[in-house]
Amino acid sequence: MNATPIADFSKNPVRPPPVLVVVDVWVEAGRDGRTFTYCDQKQLNVRLGDLVQVSLRGRRIQGLVTACRTQPEDASRPLQPVDALLQSAAVGQAWRLWLEEMAQRCHTSPFRMLKAALPPGWLGQRVVTTVKERKLWWVSLPDSTPHLDADLPARQACLVSKLQEFGGGAWQRDLVAAGFQSGIVQALVRRELLVRELRLASDAQPSPVSVNLVDATEAPRTLNSEQRVAIETLQNQPEGGGVLLWGITGSGKTEVYLQLAADELAAGRHVLLLTPEIGLIPQLVDRCRRRFGSRVLEYHSGCKERERVHTWRNSLEAEEPLVIVGTRSAIFLPLSPLGLIVLDEEHDSSYKQESPMPCYHARDLAMARVQREGGRVLLGSATPSLETWIQLAPEGPLALARLQQRISHQPLPPVQIIDMRHELADGHRRLISRALMDRLSKLPEQGEQAVVLVPRRGYSTFLSCRSCGEVTQCPHCDVALTVHGKSTGHQWLRCHWCDYRAPVTTNCGHCGSSAFKPFGAGTQRVLEQLESELEGLRLLRFDRDTTGGRDGHRRLLEQFAAGEADVLVGTQMLAKGMDLPSVTLAAVLAADGLLHRPDLRAGEQALQLLLQLAGRAGRGERPGQVLVQTYSPDHPVILHLVDGRYERFLEEEARERREAGLVPYARACVLRLSGTSASTTATAAAVVAEQLRPGCKDAGWQLIGPAPAPVARVAGRSRWQLLMHGPQASALPLPSGSSLWDGLPSGVSLAVDPDPLQL
Ligand code: ADP
Ligand code: ZN
Ligand code: ZN
Repeated sequence: MNATPIADFSKNPVRPPPVLVVVDVWVEAGRDGRTFTYCDQKQLNVRLGDLVQVSLRGRRIQGLVTACRTQPEDASRPLQPVDALLQSAAVGQAWRLWLEEMAQRCHTSPFRMLKAALPPGWLGQRVVTTVKERKLWWVSLPDSTPHLDADLPARQACLVSKLQEFGGGAWQRDLVAAGFQSGIVQALVRRELLVRELRLASDAQPSPVSVNLVDATEAPRTLNSEQRVAIETLQNQPEGGGVLLWGITGSGKTEVYLQLAADELAAGRHVLLLTPEIGLIPQLVDRCRRRFGSRVLEYHSGCKERERVHTWRNSLEAEEPLVIVGTRSAIFLPLSPLGLIVLDEEHDSSYKQESPMPCYHARDLAMARVQREGGRVLLGSATPSLETWIQLAPEGPLALARLQQRISHQPLPPVQIIDMRHELADGHRRLISRALMDRLSKLPEQGEQAVVLVPRRGYSTFLSCRSCGEVTQCPHCDVALTVHGKSTGHQWLRCHWCDYRAPVTTNCGHCGSSAFKPFGAGTQRVLEQLESELEGLRLLRFDRDTTGGRDGHRRLLEQFAAGEADVLVGTQMLAKGMDLPSVTLAAVLAADGLLHRPDLRAGEQALQLLLQLAGRAGRGERPGQVLVQTYSPDHPVILHLVDGRYERFLEEEARERREAGLVPYARACVLRLSGTSASTTATAAAVVAEQLRPGCKDAGWQLIGPAPAPVARVAGRSRWQLLMHGPQASALPLPSGSSLWDGLPSGVSLAVDPDPLQL
C-alpha cells in the first residue's frame, strides 16, 4: 500500500469526503422531457450543454447536461455514472453565466433557456450518428506534383492552384460551399490531378484551405464623413458599450457594419450580424461574402438542422474569427471572443420572441452579453424604437451616431396622400385610386418599377354570407378563415393562427343562402384587380404564400430585379431592406389597417413601416415618389410621414407616454394561460391572479385581469391573460422558481412574457 496518503490523512483526524461531479441530464421523455441526476465517475469532464450517454432503467439513452455541480459523495444514495460523452458543447464560463442571468430575467429555468439557445438538432438522434459514423469526401493533391495542362478549364485550374497555394486538402463539402461544384472535383480526380478519399466526418474540422477559397472580391468603400464619425463613435465606446446608428434608408449603414466587422476580424474577434427576418438574410450574406469570403456563416430558421449544428460547432471551434449572419436566435451562438453584435433594423418586433418561453428580446440579450463578455453592440435603424431612443446618453448608456444623407444624394422621396374619402365622394369605389392607377400605368413606358404594400391587417379575404352576415370561422380558433388560392383555380380556406385548412363551400352553413362569397381583399385579390384593370402591367406577388421555401425571397427579388415584373405587390416584408435602383414608386393601398390597431405601439410601428417602405423608392438615379391611400389623412402618423420628421414623432410620443405613465416609462408583464378546457383555464387564471396579488400590491404594481386573450381560442385551446403594470426599471413582482407553475392543473400551460411588445 502506498504510504504517502495514509501519512497525510493521519494528520487530519477527519478525512474529507471524496467530491463528486454531479450532473443533471435531461432526456427526451413525455412532452417536456425529464431530468435525472448522474455522476461523472469516469472523469469524462462533463460540462453544461454536453450531449452524453446514460442508462435509464437499463436502457441506453442520450441526454443533455443541464446543470453541473460538485457535491460530497453520498454512499447512501449511489448515483449512476455518465457512460460516455457524445458531443461536447464546451461553452465558456462567461457565456454560461450570461445565459443563467437571462433565464432569470425571462422568468424561466436555466434548462429552458439552454434548450432555446442550443441549435434544434443538438438533441436529435441524427447528430450523434452523423458525427460518429458519417464519412465525407476529403480532397487533396497527389503526392507527386501534377503536371497542369494548359487547356485545363479555368475553374479546375483555379481549384488546383488554390490547393497548391494553401497546401493540404479540403472537405469536398467545403469546396462545394465555396463554389467549386462536385463535378469540378470529379473531373480533376479523373485527370489524376486530385485524389479523393472518404474520411470520418468526426474529424471534420473546417479545412484550413477552404477558408481561403471564396475570394473576398469587394474592396471596402471610401467612407463619407458621417460614416467615419459613426465608426469612430463605436470604437470610442468602452467594452460593453453600445451605439445607436440612426441613418435614413440608403445612407450607408450596412457599409458601416461591414467596415466595423472587418476591424474586428483583423483584431481576431468574431462578429454577429442580426437581421429581423430571414427574408433579409440572403442579401446580407451576399454582401458579407463579397467582403469576407467564406468566413461568413448563416444561422436562422431557414437553415437545415444540420447546418445549424455545423455553425454552432464552428462557433465553438473556429480557429479564425467568423462573421455570422442570423436572426434573433443567433444571439446565443457561443462565439468567443465576440467583438461586435449588430442588430440591423433594431426597431423590428421580430427581435422579440413571444412564444414559446423564454420570451426574450435579442436587443436586451445582446446588451447584457457584451456587458458580461466584452465587445460592443451596434443598433442600426432608420426609425429607432422609442425604447432605444430613450436609452441614449446622457440619460442612458447608448451613444448616438447619425447618417442624415443618402449615399446617392437623392433626397428622400416626397410623400403624397390620397384621401380615399374623396374617391368615394366622386363615386370611385375601387381599391386603387385614380391617381395611383394613373401612375402605375405609366411605369412600363418609363422603364420604372413600383412596390405596392397591402397591409396584412387591413385586408383579409373572408368567406361571408351576404344574406345573414355569417363569416366562416376556424373551428379551433376565434378568428375567421381566410381564402387562399386563385379565384380562377383551386381555392381553399386557411386559419392563420393554427393552419387549419378547409374546402371552400358555396352555400352559407347558417342560412343556406348561395350569396356566400369571399369578402375583403387580400394581396391576391388586389393582384387580380390590378391584373384586370391594368392590362399589360406585369405583376409579382410577394407574401407568405409566394416566398416559401429556403430561397423563396431571393428568387422573387431576383426576378423583380431582373425586370421580369413592373410591380411587386406584397405584405409588410416588402418594406424591408430591398435596394433596387429602378423602383421609383412605393405605394400603400390602405394605411388605415395599420393606424387603427388597438395596440400601444400601433402608431410607432405604422410610422416605422411606412417610412421604411418610402425608403424603397428612388434609391437609384431617378427620383422616387410615395403614394399613400387612406381614409384618415389627418392622423398624426400620416402627418409625420409627410413631413418626414420621425424625431418629432418620437418626442411627442415620448411625452404622451410619460404623462400617461405608459411603457417605456413603466414596466409591463403579461402572463398567458392556455388550456383545452375553458373553465379549468379560467379558474387557473384566477388562482394565479390571487397568488400574485399580494406581491404586486407590496411592490406598487397593478394587476389587471384575468381576462380572455384578444383571440380567446387558438388551436382548440382557451386563452386567458393577466397584465401587470409597474414602475419603470423595477423588478417584476413574481415569485422565483417554478411556484407559479406548481399549482397549475394538468393541461393548463402558463407563459410569462416580461416587457411584452403587444400591449
Ligand atoms: P443602408 O443600409 O443605410 O440602407 P447601404 O449601406 O445599403 O445603406 O448603402 C446604400 C448603397 O450605397 C449601397 O449600394 C452601398 O453599397 C452604397 N454605399 C454605402 N456607403 C458607400 C460609400 N461610402 N461610398 C460609395 N457607396 C456607398
Ligand atoms: Zn385556427
Ligand atoms: Zn347566411
